Amino acid sequence: MSRALIIGCGGVATVAISKCCQVSEVFTDICIASRTVSKCEALAAKLAPTTKTNITTCQLDADYAENVIKVINEFKPDVVMNIALPYQNLAIMDACLATGVDYLDTASYEPEDINEPVWRARYEKRVKEKGFCAYFDYSYQWEYMEKFKAAGITGLLGTGFDPGVTQAYCAYALKHEFDSIDTIDILDCNGGDHGYPFATNFNPEVNLREVSSPGAYWENGHWVQIPAMSQKGVYDFDGVGPKDIYLLHHEEIESIAKNIPGLKRIRFFMTFGQSYLTHMKCLENVGMLGTEPVNFNGQEIIPIQFLKQLLPDPASLGPRTVGKTNIGCIFHGMKDGKEKTYYIYNVCDHQECYKEVGSQAISYTTGVPAMCGALMLLTGKWKRPGVYTVEEFDPDPYLEALDKYGLPRRESYNPAPVEIHPAE
Ligand code: NDP
Repeated sequence: MSRALIIGCGGVATVAISKCCQVSEVFTDICIASRTVSKCEALAAKLAPTTKTNITTCQLDADYAENVIKVINEFKPDVVMNIALPYQNLAIMDACLATGVDYLDTASYEPEDINEPVWRARYEKRVKEKGFCAYFDYSYQWEYMEKFKAAGITGLLGTGFDPGVTQAYCAYALKHEFDSIDTIDILDCNGGDHGYPFATNFNPEVNLREVSSPGAYWENGHWVQIPAMSQKGVYDFDGVGPKDIYLLHHEEIESIAKNIPGLKRIRFFMTFGQSYLTHMKCLENVGMLGTEPVNFNGQEIIPIQFLKQLLPDPASLGPRTVGKTNIGCIFHGMKDGKEKTYYIYNVCDHQECYKEVGSQAISYTTGVPAMCGALMLLTGKWKRPGVYTVEEFDPDPYLEALDKYGLPRRESYNPAPVEIHPAE
């Protein structure tokens, strides 16, 4: 018998909520709380006839901790699942601290306003000291460690696919396959086609910020930064076929580099088609990815927010998207005195996801791990006061839950190596 407060009702939350309703013996009561309450009500009405889970809804602006505290005090959840946007992470963590409730999210904190002076000064300092310039970094949420410990609550950071499952794959490889790991390459392939000339698979603002930023990887104890999309290769993915891969910075490499002892290098790659990159470059060149307000006919608009308004809603891509995703990690290291390579990954079919929960595979591969993370907290398997990323917990029960609830792992002991070169 547990109660989950789920904040957000977009593409990813819709999947997580649908999945919680499939596990009604654990999720006996859920409250869907989001900015636009009509979306929560529509989803609740759709799911109620299919589940024993009691579903309630409420309007919530989670930018303010006091609003979240009020909803927590009314609903009395055992866990708060933050599946809104990274901008709300700190306010929701503050609310969990004030009320003594466990917390999880699917992406690390970044601010909505990247020109806010206090945040900006700290960002500039980090860029100089650490050497990567993504807007997201874990430091803000790691600062909650002692406060969460003192309150006796668990904060589970980044339980989506990447971040999330990729980190469980790292913990699993270290626990079962290697004595020591030298290198990790995370490969995120979306072989799906939605038929639009240009659309993003999850929140456009967060997505376009991420892929238009410089790439970075971690090697021999320090960060190496490279221009955006400047290193590429081709990888032949199981279930998808050959795709262009590009080196990006991604948040989980920051925590994995810290938590996998003796690691020499970790890199992250994502697939992009040429058409996506050409559109993105053009939008960037004309200023449509801008985050500073522009005066237009007497009204202030933020270009990237206006662009979001024009682009297809990621939640609407489900019926149109065909093809598969393939996301996983390739490890190289030592076992019993011998060199070894190991690849663990998941292949997910967009249309199968749509048939099951009405969403495409990007939302599915994030929403299912969000539900499984909550399951780990609610069943006590990952209960540990403090703030942790996924690789810091026992991977076995989480990967078993993922196998069971829709994201089964596949393995290879002889994967092709990742070969990259400067993009022309
Ligand atoms: P969407 O934009 O589809 O949904 C976001 C939801 O949050 C919407 O329902 C939105 O409400 C709600 N929301 C936004 N601001 C607030 C607020 N102030 N208070 C309450 N609710 C709010 O995003 P996605 O579902 O695509 O992404 C959700 C999260 O998942 C993001 O943090 C994203 O970064 C993360 N993600 C993680 C991945 C991983 O593998 N780890 C992969 C993909 C995404 P409204 O309907 O009013 O806009």
